[in-house]
Amino acid sequence: MRTLLRLKRLMPEVRWTMWQNRSCSNSSWSLESNTSILKHLISKITATGPISVAEYMKEALTNPVAGYYVKNDMLGAGGDFITSPEISQIFGELLGVWCVSEWMAAGKSSMFQLVELGPGRGSLASDILRVFSQLKAVLGETDISVHLVEVSPKLSQFQAECLTGDKMQTCNDDQPAYRSGSTHTGLPIYWYHRIEDVPRGFSVFLAHEFFDALPIHKFQKTEKGWREVMVDIDPENPEKLRFVVSHSPTLASSILIQNNESRQHVEVCPEGGVIVQKLASRIAEDGGAALIVDYGHDGTKTDTFRGFKGHQLHNVLEAPGMADLTADVDFSYLRKMTGNEVTCLGPITQRSFLKNMGIDSRLEVLLMNCHDPSTRAQFIHSYDMLINPEKMGHRFQFFSVLNQGRLAQYKGMQKNTAPLPVAGFAELDV
Ligand code: SAH
Repeated sequence: MRTLLRLKRLMPEVRWTMWQNRSCSNSSWSLESNTSILKHLISKITATGPISVAEYMKEALTNPVAGYYVKNDMLGAGGDFITSPEISQIFGELLGVWCVSEWMAAGKSSMFQLVELGPGRGSLASDILRVFSQLKAVLGETDISVHLVEVSPKLSQFQAECLTGDKMQTCNDDQPAYRSGSTHTGLPIYWYHRIEDVPRGFSVFLAHEFFDALPIHKFQKTEKGWREVMVDIDPENPEKLRFVVSHSPTLASSILIQNNESRQHVEVCPEGGVIVQKLASRIAEDGGAALIVDYGHDGTKTDTFRGFKGHQLHNVLEAPGMADLTADVDFSYLRKMTGNEVTCLGPITQRSFLKNMGIDSRLEVLLMNCHDPSTRAQFIHSYDMLINPEKMGHRFQFFSVLNQGRLAQYKGMQKNTAPLPVAGFAELDV
């Protein structure tokens, strides 16, 4: 915790920009992309029968030709949803401090990979990299590189513009990275389609609103046992889709439901489970940490699958490819999938995490140095958006995966003399 205090003192004032200035101007939806995914799904279902919700979600979001994430810039005031890094620069700055703090606490490895999954418009990475360059004295000669896992060619272009200006090259097909370049501050930066393509080595992994976009299976408890919820053609309107419950068990319903499950309806995201397993095994073998931030629950919620379009709730089965589809992240499932080789912390609320990271004193300093009434009002508004329990403060959760060695030295210490030594997960020891 002292490390964090030192870092916060070292970090000079940085400029805050507000989401109004940073958000995208519009999203360009084409009717064609809607009808093409819908037509494709209808002919598929006609040929082979109902599809799982996971298959539906994957097609709608990441179909290589017309998927929602593949074709569009959906973030910001003109898009479908707004995220914390887009609301206020301070969010990324505090996460940047967290990354450096974990690197220091883990023994200042001579190489340091910052790996972000699903970087959106690149705002979070940009704010973090600014903190890195301001903490140059702390990071010294460390071999730092940036690795982005992004499925969307369109968003990877935004990220490249945001993080590299025009210094970006496209790689050959035979290389694991499909893009590479150099950041504004001169660090090597690479883009990949999959986490397994990121080189091995000490890494801090960040995933902000990434896991909620991964496909989920839905299951309903029936008199005959657990059954999978599937997507079928509506018999009353063959151009529309509807949910049905499968008559017999599916492979997914036989392997994904826990024996002791007490809920009546369950959503499981096996793709998220596989990704967190990969993060965990890398963290166990190569060192490092992961910070997963998303809306979610600890194995308690049931039906959370929903759609967003233009900041409004949207029927999930309407216009696939034109609306965001999302489901709350089940952190208890992620924890289970990390196995026994790593330590997990959280989930704790965004409010607690940001308060523990010192968001209040940061706001105070900024307000002290700012005399423009409208900018001051924006500072207060974005702070409130991030931490108000009724807004993002309680909805969003922070969950961390750490190398077991990270906390080993604290085992056996008196609880009251040794606060949890991981920044953000305990109150600042002032
Ligand atoms: N982290 C950003 C963006 C969140 S939107 C923010 O908080 O502002 C989800 C991001 O994950 C987008 O960049 C999307 O293109 C990416 N994404 C979604 N599914 C993915 C997948 N299967 N593999 C890699 N990236 C994915």
